[in-house]
Amino acid sequence: MRRVVLLGASGSIGTQTLDILKRNPSRFELVGFSLGKRVGFVSDVLRDFPSVKNLCVQNEEDAVNLRKKYPNLQIYSGDSGLISLLDHTDADMVVNALVGFVGLVPSVRALELGRILCSANKESLVVGGEIINGLLRQGKGKLIPIDSEHVAIAKLLRHVGIENAERILITASGGSFRDRKREDLAHVTPADALAHPTWSMGAKITIDSATMMNKGFEIIEADVLFGVGTDFVTPVMHRESYVHSIVEGKDGLFYADVSAPDMHGPIEYAVMEGDVPFEPTVVKSLDELPFHFAGFDPKRYPAVGLALESHRQGGNSNAVLNAANEEAVYAFLENRLPFLQIEEEVRYALKAVPHLDEPTLDQLIDTDSRTRQLVREHIKGGE
Ligand code: NDP
Ligand code: MG
Repeated sequence: MRRVVLLGASGSIGTQTLDILKRNPSRFELVGFSLGKRVGFVSDVLRDFPSVKNLCVQNEEDAVNLRKKYPNLQIYSGDSGLISLLDHTDADMVVNALVGFVGLVPSVRALELGRILCSANKESLVVGGEIINGLLRQGKGKLIPIDSEHVAIAKLLRHVGIENAERILITASGGSFRDRKREDLAHVTPADALAHPTWSMGAKITIDSATMMNKGFEIIEADVLFGVGTDFVTPVMHRESYVHSIVEGKDGLFYADVSAPDMHGPIEYAVMEGDVPFEPTVVKSLDELPFHFAGFDPKRYPAVGLALESHRQGGNSNAVLNAANEEAVYAFLENRLPFLQIEEEVRYALKAVPHLDEPTLDQLIDTDSRTRQLVREHIKGGE
């Protein structure tokens, strides 16, 4: 039996995680959860999981009301509440389904507490990869990815063996504007961008898919998780999102993880700690697969190059990359910034924010706030 704390229970990954916990009551007990502003969802979770003892919401006013309604529960609020929730809940596993930088400190704390961390929150891996790997090297906790490509890569590398792998092909749908030219994107709206062709996900990652910053993040994530270096990971366009990634073997064969685009599978792999049956699809050429594949054009999606350059710079660069991207994506979603300016804000911030080698967690937090401030002002100035 695993006692689980779920961070971000009301989101796309969060609700799908609840589905899986519900289906496996003999294996999992939900003992704590957090959500942001969708507090109406608290009663649904408590109805389905009476084992919950502690929870956290984003705003203190909501927490005050909930404490009156549920006097037997410990109810926390805010960013510090996420840490109190982790500190005061006796758990084996933490599922991090938060979106954005807010997921970093909880991920670090979960590992410090020795928990099994199943993380969908890729921003924490992109920004804090060094710190997270440092904790893992000290034997603190365990990290299992939830992102579908990384679950696929983990399964495939386990099957093939890293020493027998020539390279990793990470697949990309191309997002909502994949059939439009770059010059036709100047006036696209948030509603256009949110219509993802193959996946149903939260708003922020859907925009990151449209710019393909998401794929840049995922190549960095693969380096952090598997220590392979970003040159080992080649993006490949794949329209159907059925092939979650591919390992090309030194034997000349392609090993693919194939299934419908549904995050329940990768989440299940993570919370089951890899204990799920898996057989790769093995072909001599990608033409043998009944799907479309095409080369990646870095000029069409410059966000990928920005992410890789930032990762090469190291230090606090990825914190700048991520903070600028978050600010710009939310500005676009609120109609304060044109779509193509998202990348421009990231480019601007990477030049403007001073570089730091080997930042501490506090320095990453400081870099995050300084970058946001700078980008907010820059966007305002441009309006
Ligand atoms: P959603 O926006 O659907 O959900 C995010 C969750 O985080 C919600 O529960 C939200 O609460 C909570 N939250 C957001 N901001 C805060 C905050 N400041 N304080 C506390 N809680 C907060 O995101 P997704 O589920 O789509 O994505 C989660 C993570 O998983 C992201 O890092 C994403 O990149 C990654 N991922 C997602 C995939 C998907 O299919 N969705 C696939 C692969 C990776 P509320 O809504 O109540 O305000
Ligand atoms: Mg992914």
